[in-house]
Amino acid sequence: MRTPDFLPIEFVIIGGAISGLSAAIALSRVGHKVTVLEVMDTFHDTPMGAGCRIPPNASKLYYRWGMQERLRSASVKSRGILFAQYDDGSVVGSHEWEEEVLEETGGDFLLMHYSDLRRILAESAEEHGATLRGGCQVVSIEPDSKRPYVTLATGEVVTADVVIGADGCHVPPYHCRRIILEALGQEDKETPTGMQLFNVLLPESALNQLDDKELVSQLRQTGKVFTWFGPGYGALGFPVKEPTSGEPLFTLFVYASRADKNMTIANAGREELLESLKGCDPRLMQLAQHAQAIVCIPMVERPFLEDWVHPQGRVMAIGEAAHPIPAGSIYALGMAAGDGAVLGRLFSHLHRKDQIDAFLNAVPEIRAERVERVLRAALGNIFAVSLPPGIAEAHDRALRERAERGIKDLGTTNGGGAGTGQTSEEMMAAIERIFAYDPEDEADNWWVQWGLMQERAARMVVSDAVTVHVNEDLQEESD
Ligand SMILES: Cc1cc2nc3c(=O)[nH]c(=O)nc-3n(C[C@H](O)[C@H](O)[C@H](O)COP(=O)(O)OP(=O)(O)OC[C@H]3O[C@@H](n4cnc5c(N)ncnc54)[C@H](O)[C@@H]3O)c2cc1C
Repeated sequence: MRTPDFLPIEFVIIGGAISGLSAAIALSRVGHKVTVLEVMDTFHDTPMGAGCRIPPNASKLYYRWGMQERLRSASVKSRGILFAQYDDGSVVGSHEWEEEVLEETGGDFLLMHYSDLRRILAESAEEHGATLRGGCQVVSIEPDSKRPYVTLATGEVVTADVVIGADGCHVPPYHCRRIILEALGQEDKETPTGMQLFNVLLPESALNQLDDKELVSQLRQTGKVFTWFGPGYGALGFPVKEPTSGEPLFTLFVYASRADKNMTIANAGREELLESLKGCDPRLMQLAQHAQAIVCIPMVERPFLEDWVHPQGRVMAIGEAAHPIPAGSIYALGMAAGDGAVLGRLFSHLHRKDQIDAFLNAVPEIRAERVERVLRAALGNIFAVSLPPGIAEAHDRALRERAERGIKDLGTTNGGGAGTGQTSEEMMAAIERIFAYDPEDEADNWWVQWGLMQERAARMVVSDAVTVHVNEDLQEESD
């Protein structure tokens, strides 16, 4: 897979969550030396981890990298979505993921516990030779054109050929994002959406307590995500497995408005959750009474980095550090996995150190526009991003109307009325197209189109007697 005269180099990755671990696997499996520095003590359990959805564009990469069996056994395969009205819970439509579409992507839509996903990624990274260091808080990053380094809270200095910042944007001071913003002179403006996400876990047996047995059978339809939508609110319910025992659990994502503009990610109480559900389907409230673990995440918007690579050296941001995505998006994990996949694929061609800068700059070139396009399209697409219309309202009235029309169409289609259902079907088709995207193919395309051209140019320089000193410089750097 990698180039015959492959040159292994050292990467330090700050942050061992989804984008950091995905990059660690992708880079170490092609032969690079990778160290992940993570402030949390362990990779096997994640405080505040709850339910997560892995779209096929992420799972197909993980399958390709050897995690298929482990992921399948720790997850529930999603087969589709049921849509219900937020106020009374009446089911107004449904969508089955097209088997052929999923087959074509090579992945599955998986529902699982976030801690399990992170544990499986960490195990895989170690199996591929990456070194994972928990309890390591990075306190500063020094960009450099040859040997960047980071300093830990203990005073230890760790150097590498490349530093990757996968330290997110949720918990300050998010060093990598901050130093790149400062170097670019870009402002980091946080725009509250006025919404918050409750990520809730409850025992599956809580479903037995519901009075409405029809809802219970709908919630238990294998792999179906039950979705409530209404103006300004939304909720999803789906099954996951308990990490150690594999016992069935049920997850609720509740998207609700929030008054407190200054909140950060925190555990929340049941009272707070129930308060936010006032006026919704009473059966959803009944379910929420059994919540065991509740994490509340503010839904904010922040700008994407204008450039992911630090102008003064080999430090690059990926994942949420580069392109923050509001909490609860169906796209977040796919985007995080995709950044790592592109990095791994490009650096499989490394055979001279002077290729490093071109490869780093190629990552945002390949990824940035794509991530932005997907998220922009998703703003009006409530089913895709799981944001209720209240959020779209904050951005664009036309998009909001389109989203609301989607709900209406679902209602009338189901009842055999005048609606065509086309809007929502178009939305689902768009989601399925996103699932089919393959970031490794994009990296290969870049290599064929640009990488090889740069190779030829480098060879011409090397063979040119007048500029042979360039070759000597290259040689020196490779030593
Ligand atoms: C604790 C936690 C729990 C989450 N739970 C869920 C969930 O249940 N469901 C879900 O869908 N999504 C969850 N997410 C979000 C999900 O990981 C992101 O949405 C996204 O998919 C991947 O983002 P990321 O890896 O780029 O950044 P993040 O997820 O923000 O991860 C950043 C990582 O960097 C580490 N870090 C930050 N600063 C430093 C530092 N100075 N030194 C060393 N390490 C540092 C953090 O501890 C974290 O592990 C969670 C994220 C976190 C951090």
